[in-house]
Amino acid sequence: MTARQAELAANLDTLRARVAAAARAAGRDPGDITIIAVGKTFPAQDVASLVRLGVIDFGENRDQEASAKAAAVAAALPDATVRWHFVGQLQRNKTGSVAGYADVVHSLDRARLVDALARSAGRAGRRIDALIQIDLGSAAGPDGRGGAAPDDVVALAERIAELPALRLAGVMAVPPLDADPATAYARLADLAHRVRSVHPDAAAVSAGMSGDLEVAIAHGATHVRVGTALFGGRALVSDHVR
Ligand SMILES: *Cc1c(COP(=O)(O)O)cnc(C)c1O
Repeated sequence: MTARQAELAANLDTLRARVAAAARAAGRDPGDITIIAVGKTFPAQDVASLVRLGVIDFGENRDQEASAKAAAVAAALPDATVRWHFVGQLQRNKTGSVAGYADVVHSLDRARLVDALARSAGRAGRRIDALIQIDLGSAAGPDGRGGAAPDDVVALAERIAELPALRLAGVMAVPPLDADPATAYARLADLAHRVRSVHPDAAAVSAGMSGDLEVAIAHGATHVRVGTALFGGRALVSDHVR
């Protein structure tokens, strides 16, 4: 084992223990929470190492990096089960590429994007799990993280549910930088409940990152998107979140 592999293994152990403790503290089954390893800026080799340690779910936020990494991992580990989650802001002209490798898209926030992804998935002969990203609002105004306005979420859910190439899976949010995560995630839980009351299968709540996953799990997160706590710190790149 290389030093890097040992580091990833140790980080994964620590992370799994954190998630399990948070679940138990919330009276939830740790098995109901999926860890998505967000490996942006880190090499495909790190993803392959985590696959060998039993991680299945990987997240990326930029199409160019994600498509190259998905191809590299598939070439290195052709028999492995890997699920790719696209978690970043998505432009309509990138849906064709994303539909080629993504199993789940977390960042659907407008009807035209939903329609474009459905067309691309249909053309690729694939069915993609779709989460609605919700803008939980920032006192400082829009912070560029994307997301549908809370009032638009139910209509967007309706539209996704009508498209056979997409499966409405649930909701996602990135809390505003200036917000109290507990308040933001309580708001998300309320909106998730509203969607689920109409679409009972749309049970995914994608919430929680390295710094706040305990709070998110306490408020019902089913999927935590973890970068730093697993891979280590990222060099600052302007179009990456944080
Ligand atoms: C990078 C990223 C994460 C992971 O953030 P960490 O704080 O490094 O755990 C989660 N969600 C999205 C949308 C991201 O872009």
